[in-house]
Amino acid sequence: MYIDTHTHMISRTTDDYEAMAAAGVVACIEPAFWLGQPRTNVGSYIDYLSTIVGWERFRAGQFGMRHYCTIGLNSKEANDEELAEAVMEILPRFALKEGVVAIGEIGYDEQTELEDRYFRQQLDLAKEVGLPVMIHTPHRDKRRGTTRSMDVAVEHGLDPSWVVVDHNNEETVREVIERGFWAGFSIYPCSKMGNERMVEILRRYGPDRIIVDSACDWGVSDPLAVPKTAELMRRGGIAEAAIRQVTYGNALAAYGRSGQMREEDWLDPPAIDQCTLYMGNSVLRGGQEPRIGAAAPRRRDSLVIE
Ligand SMILES: [Zn+2]
Repeated sequence: MYIDTHTHMISRTTDDYEAMAAAGVVACIEPAFWLGQPRTNVGSYIDYLSTIVGWERFRAGQFGMRHYCTIGLNSKEANDEELAEAVMEILPRFALKEGVVAIGEIGYDEQTELEDRYFRQQLDLAKEVGLPVMIHTPHRDKRRGTTRSMDVAVEHGLDPSWVVVDHNNEETVREVIERGFWAGFSIYPCSKMGNERMVEILRRYGPDRIIVDSACDWGVSDPLAVPKTAELMRRGGIAEAAIRQVTYGNALAAYGRSGQMREEDWLDPPAIDQCTLYMGNSVLRGGQEPRIGAAAPRRRDSLVIE
């Protein structure tokens, strides 16, 4: 069993859900994020957040996956002050909805003043509502941005064991782990963290506090990155207990603090019935044979890394 803690499933197809479920991914977490197209008003945000706590959670269940999400104002859009102010007003009511396991992904992009202001406000919100935090570390000037994110989290009184710092690399991992934060690693097919590098990191630092995720979204990414990396770890001689810890156990320990994510959710899930309606709509398209109760159709997705 695997948990993928960073998946933007609204950008993915039902084939992806079926392939992930068939490969052993029992649950995924969808962090609120940037759509590529900047949102111009708070209404777009309300509908987006409603989608990830509502329809997407329903859709995932209809294809055999438990779906959770995180709620937040992302760092890029924090730079649109008018939008950011309006979004901050509506975040608390979404943060308390069922299936929300953290405030995130929040943090720095260009490390501007506005990003800093809304990052701090959202750390306070996380404390207020008693949720963990998922931090997105910047792609540029990563090391400084990562250190700064942790400094600010500590300054705002957050316990590091309630904070996942995601998108780490070889440069940032040591400090994140030593300071007691969870260290997320996003496995991208052709940039940043490759699979082989992940195996090396695990050899060097051990499995404590490390979480492997796919960060699959609308860009070049692989929703099977977690099971594929686990397979590579097995071939690289990493112990099964360590693999389980970084692809399942640590994720559950970190996000389970929300009280919203429990093993029973996927060990004893409601039976699939694709005739079920969500606000009047099902996942079925014209003339399609519904899947009811039965296991997913057999698939032949290879877990070999190309
Ligand atoms: Zn993301």
